Amino acid sequence: MKYLDEFSDPHLAERLLGQIHAATTRPMAMMEVCGGQTHSIIRHGIDQLLPEQIELIHGPGCPVCVTPLEIIDRALAIAARPDVVFCSFGDMLRVPGSGRDLFSVKSAGGDVRVVYSPLDALRIARENPDKEVVFFGIGFETTAPANAMTVHQARRLGVRNFSLLVSHVLVPPAIAAIMESPTCRVQAFLAAGHVCSVMGTSAYPPLAEKYRVPIVVTGFEPLDILEGVRRTVLQLEEGRHEVENAYPRAVRDEGNLPAMEMLRDVFEVTDRTWRGIGTIPRSGWRLAPAYAEFDAENRFDVGAIRTAESSLCRSGEVLQGLIKPHECAAFGTRCTPRTPLGATMVSSEGACAAYHAYRRLDLVEAK
Ligand code: SF4
Repeated sequence: MKYLDEFSDPHLAERLLGQIHAATTRPMAMMEVCGGQTHSIIRHGIDQLLPEQIELIHGPGCPVCVTPLEIIDRALAIAARPDVVFCSFGDMLRVPGSGRDLFSVKSAGGDVRVVYSPLDALRIARENPDKEVVFFGIGFETTAPANAMTVHQARRLGVRNFSLLVSHVLVPPAIAAIMESPTCRVQAFLAAGHVCSVMGTSAYPPLAEKYRVPIVVTGFEPLDILEGVRRTVLQLEEGRHEVENAYPRAVRDEGNLPAMEMLRDVFEVTDRTWRGIGTIPRSGWRLAPAYAEFDAENRFDVGAIRTAESSLCRSGEVLQGLIKPHECAAFGTRCTPRTPLGATMVSSEGACAAYHAYRRLDLVEAK
């Protein structure tokens, strides 16, 4: 398939691996920020092909994984109301709240619908004026423009029975929080290419300078990841800490200007809680005052719902790169994709799910 097959070419992969092996002279730990990158790395066994000195730490860039439990409980409370049609992408339906998930709300009679775009939810709102239609707007800078545009359209069209349950998070403040952590072992970042395709790269030079870390914007196919690793190795070996774009077919330094303008219009920066990490100042978006009437948390008065995490799940440590998924005692036993204890197992982009899908047999044999 065009733009996929050529980025999985085994001969080119072998050449890049040769360059990486030749350049690596000492131990180094780099974090791939995005869950999509983690999935690709584990699926293709890229970490097993790299020199032993290179450790890939799986970062917090899976949007489902970092959505706080209390936001999921708020979604469940809204979705259970008889006057509500609750719309979400499919990956959120199996994410457990503190007691159940959106599937169980649906099976109990709730009107929960999987949509492929927030604009589908807006259409449902226009077709059902006697219902309140809510879209679950989670994710990083990547998914935010479509949600912003939908709220903008709702206001323009006067669709008052539509609202957004917002839990958007931002990558640069998370990188800063990781680097500020006293347990931080990260020496470099493979930044998330799709986030940069929206926001550009301008947020990263100050971070690279302040924390003296290389940041290489990286894509998602095997050759993209190997090229990101190769450039990162060269920077670490040469003592550089620069921002490089290794994903130029999708990322321009200035980003997607119309999308950024839409984001500035509809959202404002706020503190956000990241599941497993805690609150990071100015690390998310909420609806700006001009769009506050479309905020589902206010409309349904669920902002007071607070939830504690399971004491068994160590996804916080996984998300911070402090342990690998199989080092959690519940991995593959009490916690599986069918019976997930934490969001890093339930999401297909989560590190625990990736290890369970592609590594668990190796891990069992190794025990
Ligand atoms: S294996 Fe399950 S319980 Fe353990 S950290 Fe991952 S999601 Fe949490």
